[in-house]
Amino acid sequence: MKVCSKCKVDKDESEFAKESVAKDGLQSRCKKCQKEHKQLTRYRSNELAKIRVAKNSEKYAKQCKDYRKRNLEKEKQRVKNYYYTNHKEMINRARRNNRKNIDNLTDCYIKGQLDVQKHQITTELIEWKRVTIQIKRLIKEKNK
Ligand SMILES: [Zn+2]
Repeated sequence: MKVCSKCKVDKDESEFAKESVAKDGLQSRCKKCQKEHKQLTRYRSNELAKIRVAKNSEKYAKQCKDYRKRNLEKEKQRVKNYYYTNHKEMINRARRNNRKNIDNLTDCYIKGQLDVQKHQITTELIEWKRVTIQIKRLIKEKNK
């Protein structure tokens, strides 16, 4: 007879499973207690695993959300930066071109100064307008 370490009941040796490392060659818990213990351990580890999975999936979901959020902000910023950079560049380019047109009095600039509704644009007209602008500028320079 052997007393079970768990339920403290004096039971027949046949009620205990074999355990080669034990002094008497039998487990300290009876078969019934050992079965309960195993079930409890399995249940506990299952529950722990479930909690771990839940925690992880929560964590991953959050990470994923954060990642998307960060990326969205980045993307927004990128578009914003792109717009501003190019917007500035476009304005600057337009200004440079405009300045160049005014300075050189190109046909393009002069055509812009002419009223296309009233005038038929000819090379003579453009030439006349160019001279007019130059004269106006000279007068302006003198009056400064
Ligand atoms: Zn027992």
